[in-house]
Amino acid sequence: MDVWTYDPADAKQFAIEVMERSNQNIFACYQCRRCASGCTVGEEIGFTPDRLIRMVITGNRKAALENALVWQCVSCYTCGTRCPNNIQGGRITETLKKMSREESITPRSPTIAYFHDSFVTGCTRWGRVNEIQFMGAYEIKSIAKNLVNLHFTDVWKEIREQSLLLKALFKQRRIHLKLQTAKGRNEVRAFYKKAMQKKTKSRNVFPQR
Ligand code: SF4
Ligand code: SF4
Repeated sequence: MDVWTYDPADAKQFAIEVMERSNQNIFACYQCRRCASGCTVGEEIGFTPDRLIRMVITGNRKAALENALVWQCVSCYTCGTRCPNNIQGGRITETLKKMSREESITPRSPTIAYFHDSFVTGCTRWGRVNEIQFMGAYEIKSIAKNLVNLHFTDVWKEIREQSLLLKALFKQRRIHLKLQTAKGRNEVRAFYKKAMQKKTKSRNVFPQR
């Protein structure tokens, strides 16, 4: 188990970076735990936004960036609607997700990361999700991981389950082979571009040591 030592300078830098990039005033959190009682995934993963915020404020960078909530948060924004200080936990998890990616930290839940990446790739390229591209990109990554780890039973199980799902979707006409482009594709691209610029700006303000 990693031993964490509190360092005031590191703690301040980390907390300010998260606050700047998420645009959430985490220092206003007084640990009332109203967010915790409503978190959609809190019970399942055994961790809640109030604790993540506390982790960030106290500068436990590694634990925060590797936390399960970072990848398993479903961005439902329930925590934010309950918070008396209007702190949106979903924006904090999203920020930590980006930061963990930038620092090449292996996600605690790789398959959720594959799902996320496949979704973002589709949206930035076509302005929307195309089911066939989305499922294909996700499955290739997921199966490759199992092959590398020599989990052949899992590979077979995945192929079998997804083939059945694909068949059912075709039957219901819920999946299309043709890749479709959204009318507002350029706006979606501009949106992502802007988000990436925000990251660069923030990094310049708080450069890595
Ligand atoms: S509801 Fe808001 S103030 Fe209360 S613990 Fe959660 S984030 Fe902090
Ligand atoms: S946005 Fe994320 S952290 Fe907040 S309640 Fe929903 S799942 Fe929990």
